[in-house]
Amino acid sequence: MDAAELDEWTAPQEDDHQTVPCAACDAALQSPSRTTISFLLLDQLTIPLLGCSDHVEQFRSVCELTTEERAELLDHRPAGGINCPGCRQAGNRLQLPTLPVGRGAVAVLACESHQSEIIGRFQAGLQAQQSLTASLQTR
Ligand SMILES: [Zn+2]
Ligand SMILES: [Zn+2]
Repeated sequence: MDAAELDEWTAPQEDDHQTVPCAACDAALQSPSRTTISFLLLDQLTIPLLGCSDHVEQFRSVCELTTEERAELLDHRPAGGINCPGCRQAGNRLQLPTLPVGRGAVAVLACESHQSEIIGRFQAGLQAQQSLTASLQTR
């Protein structure tokens, strides 16, 4: 292989666009709008999420493993709005942290404290899912 070509390939990317394997998530992340934002209702939380409907649904079902209640997904702003002013502002941010969900990526449009809370729930849900799968396999 041509050395110059290799260099080009390994050169670090200008990293404001990471490629997401799921094209639908990628498209949603590139053009946040009212129609691509979903709202996750989990316990007392209302968290705006950005991603394709499949992966947002996958995110919901993982988070649901951490609650006794149902986690619900709305495709429109909930009637009561979002209580937290920080979360209401979060959608205007340019840099959206994204979480890998399966082959997709979901952005959490929340203030920092709610963002870390929902990410914690998601990770706990993933662990619960893994131990569930593990216990099924040992039977
Ligand atoms: Zn997706
Ligand atoms: Zn908040």
